Amino acid sequence: MRDVNAGPERQPDNPYEMALAQFDAVADRLGLDDGLRKILRVCKRELIVRFPVKMDDGSIRVFTGYRVQHNEARGPVKGGLRFNPAVNLDEVRALAMWMTWKCAVASLPYGGAKGGVEVDPRSLSDGELERLSRRYATEIVRFIGPEQDIPAPDMGTDARVMAWIMDTYSMHHGHSVPGVVTGKPVSIGGSSGRFEATGRGVLFITQEACRHVGMSLEGATVAVQGYGNVGGVAARLLRQAGARVVAVSDSRCGVYNAQGLDVDAIWDLKRRGGSLLDFAGGDRITNAELLALPVDILVPAAMEGQIHADNAASVRARLLVEGANGPVSPEADPILTENGVLAVPDILASGGGVIVSYFEWVQDLQSFFWEESEVNERLHRLMVRSFQEVVACAEREKAHLREAAYILAVSRVAEAVRDRGIFP
Ligand code: NAD
Repeated sequence: MRDVNAGPERQPDNPYEMALAQFDAVADRLGLDDGLRKILRVCKRELIVRFPVKMDDGSIRVFTGYRVQHNEARGPVKGGLRFNPAVNLDEVRALAMWMTWKCAVASLPYGGAKGGVEVDPRSLSDGELERLSRRYATEIVRFIGPEQDIPAPDMGTDARVMAWIMDTYSMHHGHSVPGVVTGKPVSIGGSSGRFEATGRGVLFITQEACRHVGMSLEGATVAVQGYGNVGGVAARLLRQAGARVVAVSDSRCGVYNAQGLDVDAIWDLKRRGGSLLDFAGGDRITNAELLALPVDILVPAAMEGQIHADNAASVRARLLVEGANGPVSPEADPILTENGVLAVPDILASGGGVIVSYFEWVQDLQSFFWEESEVNERLHRLMVRSFQEVVACAEREKAHLREAAYILAVSRVAEAVRDRGIFP
């Protein structure tokens, strides 16, 4: 395994190497001292669990799961849980580190964490998925908790999985502990507005970015990669805000319609378990073609590493609003800038989910719940403030938005580490 204290050389497709390269660049720029650099470059806790699950046919399968906590200087750690066959330790480490920066950009009192299980949830029955979720929760039960580490949904997990984890944790503790996870159903302490929060945050940041570059969102053309929780909600809200969503995709294919797609019909189709392959209201395109469309706004909302050195030059959007975590590699950034593409970084643009997760946690701790309008208003206020702080930092430091977001985030976490000092 790679020495995490080693220099910035990296493999192109490894998200953790990508996260370290991004951190190193900002640490150099900030002149961070060597000790702080060493602390922030590593993940504080890394747990790998291998656990059996009884399948419906009576056979036993052993699954591998992870929970990684990057840094807790600013508060308990927070981050999603991913069920995907490609999950691995380096991916989870990268996502945990990005969560630390994302929480700091929004000034939330959290550090970053992430978890995952190597599994395709679509290949399991409901019963198998429940047994897997509950057993994984049991394996990590000593590492999570409302004051310690609070999981949330990510790719391949949803409110139902969060409910099983909340219930399993509560059974182990002998009483109900709603604050142990966020993104739960409202019936057990979830927050109104949490399901749409990341996509709604993408909308709010897109509105601010349009204002920033003097572009009208009304009538602007949009392409969205990924049609899940983030991409599907963002596409529908952008459409409601007057944009023309001309292309969307999922893992199998994309669809394009220059007049604008019926994004609600696509949402219904996906909800019923259908695929974009079954959608008749547009022409079939590939994911690569979607990324290269001449649109005003491109929203990558699928997964990391989608825009890289080999395809960045083909991006023709004016604004690139990163709904996914880590969709743009560090090599792609200068190419995008050179071509006049303004990239609004993931740690700013996709922060809506963790912000409303924070609201959910606060509501759970107080057992006092807010109206959805209050949740959305507070989300709007916080995202606009974060955007303005990042833009002000970019202007002050003569930096791009990603660099500025990292400067803000890393300096906030470094300040917390300095203020706390080193025990003993
Ligand atoms: P999801 O599982 O709900 O949806 C993912 C979508 O991406 C699906 O439509 C899937 O078909 C598609 N997809 C997967 N691989 C693809 C590929 N190679 N090319 C094109 N499409 C592909 O997941 P989600 O929760 O919407 O998460 C999407 C991204 O947003 C991830 O990077 C996640 O970490 C990030 N994110 C999620 C949240 C959240 O609250 N759910 C918050 C912040 C960031």
